[in-house]
Order: sequence, then C-alpha cells, then structure tokens
Amino acid sequence: MTPIYSNLQAVRERIFAASLDARRAPESVGLLAVSKTWPASAVCEAVAAGQRCFGENYIQEAVRKQDELAAMPGMTIEWHFIGPIQGNKTRLVAERFDWAHSLDRFRIAERLARQRPPELPPLNVCIEVNIDGEADKHGCRPDELAALAQEIARLPRLRLRGLMCIPAPVSGQEAQRAPFRRLRELKEALCAGGLPLDTLSMGMSHDLEAAIAEGATLVRVGTAIFGERARNAAPEASFKEDET
Ligand SMILES: *Cc1c(COP(=O)(O)O)cnc(C)c1O
Repeated sequence: MTPIYSNLQAVRERIFAASLDARRAPESVGLLAVSKTWPASAVCEAVAAGQRCFGENYIQEAVRKQDELAAMPGMTIEWHFIGPIQGNKTRLVAERFDWAHSLDRFRIAERLARQRPPELPPLNVCIEVNIDGEADKHGCRPDELAALAQEIARLPRLRLRGLMCIPAPVSGQEAQRAPFRRLRELKEALCAGGLPLDTLSMGMSHDLEAAIAEGATLVRVGTAIFGERARNAAPEASFKEDET
C-alpha cells in the first residue's frame, strides 16, 4: 500500500467520524484532494485509490499536470481552482476547470463568465470571504458579500454554488469553529435572500473536524493526503496571459 492510499483512507475515516459526531450523513461532506506542488504521478495514485476531485492553486502548474494526466486512460477528474484568481489567469481557469473557489471581485467573475467556453457546462463558483477581517488576506468583506453574490448569481455561464474561507490558524476546536460558524451563517442569510446555495468549502488538514461540525460540504485537504509540501514550491514564475 502506498502512503497516499493509506493517508486517503485515514482522511476518509476522519471525515466519517466527524460527520457522525455532527449527526450528519458522511456522504454530505465531499473531499477535495489539494495536489498543488505534487506531480501528476501523485494525482494518479490518489485516483487509483478512488479520489476524483482535485484542487490546484497555481494555474501554470495545474495545466501542465492536467495535460500529462489527460494522456492517461481512465483519468476522469473534476478540477477545482482554489488559488487567488488574477485577471491574467481567468482564461485558463474558465477553460480548464470545473470549479473556482476563490472569487472575490465582480470584475474577475465577469471575465470568467465571458471566457467560459460555450460547449462546457457552467463553471461552478464559490465566493471567498475574508472571514477574520485580516487586512492582507484575499476574500470579500462580509459586509460586501450580499451585493457581490447577487451580482455574480446573475452572470451567465457561472453557477454560484456557495462560500469558501481560509481562517487564520488557531488551536482548539471551539476557536476553530467560530469562523466556520460565521461562514455558515452568511450562507444561510444568502439562502434566505433567495440564492440557492449548496456549498460551504471550508476545512483543511488541521481543522476539517471543526469545519464539518459547522456544516462544511467540501473539505480541501492537501498535507494529510500527500505529505508536507516543500517550502516555496511551484512559484508562479513570470507567467503572463493577455488581458482580453
Ligand atoms: C493548500 C491549500 C489547502 C490544503 O491545505 P492543507 O493544510 O495542506 O490541507 C486548502 N485550501 C487552500 C485554498 C489551499 O491553498
């Protein structure tokens, strides 16, 4: 058994146990394997172990990996873009991904809508919320969320599915749960306002139990599946795409 296989099993068991603790059906929590910095062979191993959804942060690295995997038979993968989306990256995200989790500006959503190829189904999107109000963090401010969500929901070629957050790391389940609870309440408010959202993308290797306790429907797990990432791995080099 490879470590990826047994690590995946261990993560599935954590999800199962946390779901039961929260009195939720384990199938209501999806697992996104975050494969950033890891080679196509690692993704391949995870696919062999039954994993189907993968998250990537760096567009150039992701596209290279996707091309390598597309050449192998039986690789039916759902790709999720979870990194910050800058204007010069929207085209590849629109063309190459099934989901984008990190929308935080209308201008970027508009570009994705315009660039989503007509032959593909709508791009599933989540709005990233800066849930702790940290000054240097990505994500829209909670008080700007309702207006942004209404605007994005009206765009063609995108399907607004829910909210995503990356809270500041804290220890202890009670402290970990607080920002996840705020994200859930924000989603509930949007649903009450008429938006049919079904996704809370929250929880990573160190806090997935707290996220599941607060209603996560998709946990994004890298380290616990693939191992510790090398520091400064996979920088975005000097990649430029034209701004059309
Ligand atoms: C890297 C990353 C993850 C996975 O984090 P781990 O701690 O390795 O599980 C999840 N979400 C986002 C947005 C990431 O960038």
